[in-house]
Amino acid sequence: MTKTYQAEIVAVGTELLLGQIANTNAQWLSERLATYGINIYNHTVVGDNLERVEQAFRLAGSRSDIVIVTGGLGPTEDDLTREGFEQLTGLEILEHKVTMEKIENYFKARNRTMTPNNRKQARVFKGARVLENNAGMAPGMYVDYQDTHWFFLPGVPREMKQISSEELFPFLEKLTGKQQVIQSTILKFIGIGESDLEHALKDMIHKQTNPTIAPLAQDQGVIIRVTARASSKEDAQKLVADKKQEILGRIGEYCFGEDDQTIESKVMELLAEKEKTIGAAESLTGGLFSSKLVATAGASKVFAGSLITYQTSVKESLLDLSPEWIAQYGVVSRECAEEMAKQAALKLNTSMAISFTGVAGPDTQEGKPVGQVYIAIIDKGQIVTSSSILLSGTRNIIREKAALKGFELLYQYLK
Ligand code: ATP
Repeated sequence: MTKTYQAEIVAVGTELLLGQIANTNAQWLSERLATYGINIYNHTVVGDNLERVEQAFRLAGSRSDIVIVTGGLGPTEDDLTREGFEQLTGLEILEHKVTMEKIENYFKARNRTMTPNNRKQARVFKGARVLENNAGMAPGMYVDYQDTHWFFLPGVPREMKQISSEELFPFLEKLTGKQQVIQSTILKFIGIGESDLEHALKDMIHKQTNPTIAPLAQDQGVIIRVTARASSKEDAQKLVADKKQEILGRIGEYCFGEDDQTIESKVMELLAEKEKTIGAAESLTGGLFSSKLVATAGASKVFAGSLITYQTSVKESLLDLSPEWIAQYGVVSRECAEEMAKQAALKLNTSMAISFTGVAGPDTQEGKPVGQVYIAIIDKGQIVTSSSILLSGTRNIIREKAALKGFELLYQYLK
């Protein structure tokens, strides 16, 4: 039977206790340790106090096979990790020649005088394996003490991660005989809110283990990150693919793409696929929709241009809307949006056109509330979408949301 190892993470630092920084080191390490089938029963955070550091180490050593200590290896007085372990074990601390030279060279190269406390960082336990720190000064250490594997890593996350990847994880692979490969995919959704999405996947989210599924609300809708771990790339990919199918089986109609796909590029792809060209008439969005479309490479194949008809007088002159017509229907209306789309397709000579009109705020307009937006889409002379929506937020958030809604409506029509 293979042994199940028990690990513990001890983070040293008063700033963690004071809430000045979050213990992201423990989070990062735990996530990875789990993939080796190593049980983590305890996270300990201890301040920069010698007695308490020693106590924390004593407890960790008494109950865990592997103890990973982060922080407290630096040059200052309150960096007490070495001293705490020395007090517990009586292990001698020596100056590590190679590290000392590295520190001296660092100061020499910068023409700076080295203060005596910098020597502190070069001190290691006698018999320890010194784990080189390529991102900073203080090296990490591995000590095998009374049947417990002790890893001492710097607190700086970048340094901790580098030493973990180069030294800790290969060690764990050997120890547990498990090699782990991680694969992940991001599924992108539009037209479904985060809570509806979570509701649809509630049971899956609840019992997730491997793969994990993490929904996250983003500017362009909601994403789900599916991450799997396995002993080979193929196995991990298969786990991701299966889970993806399960998710799409439930909410696939809202999924517009994966990974780097954006809703703009998806809409453009669909327009090109269906050999359609598009133009726009934009009022409250002031060109935002067009700007987003143009930001995607290849836009010239499908996008003709945009009429930015902001003032009423410009709607009259560029879109041929008569003052009488406007007096009857207003510029913030479904009728106006539809007319804008019709005129844009005509004037820009495109098969499709989209229009945006509405109230971005802060003031109401024509008796319509702030956030009231009308979007119309025309295709080959027929209005195919005419949408009235109420958006919330500040002026520019409403404008952003309106442009995004335009992409969502186009996607729904074209897919
Ligand atoms: P070094 O010797 O490389 O300077 P150190 O071992 O002395 O590092 P600390 O002085 O304890 O590490 O912490 C250095 C910085 O690293 C902290 O100010 C903090 O920004 C970050 N840090 C420390 N511990 C953690 C942790 N558990 N999670 C996230 N960040 C941390």
